[in-house]
Amino acid sequence: MPEEIMENEGEKELIKQGICPVCKAKLRHTEGCIECTNCGWSLCLEA
Ligand SMILES: [Zn+2]
Repeated sequence: MPEEIMENEGEKELIKQGICPVCKAKLRHTEGCIECTNCGWSLCLEA
């Protein structure tokens, strides 16, 4: 499903830029994780 892949890539790009993919607020980096203080979205990176 190409649309899903594109959405995923866009999300990754936003995260790379430090922007929440949900609400577009600035992300906060914590130990091994990235979180959005605005909407509560978070992502923990492994390794
Ligand atoms: Zn957010």
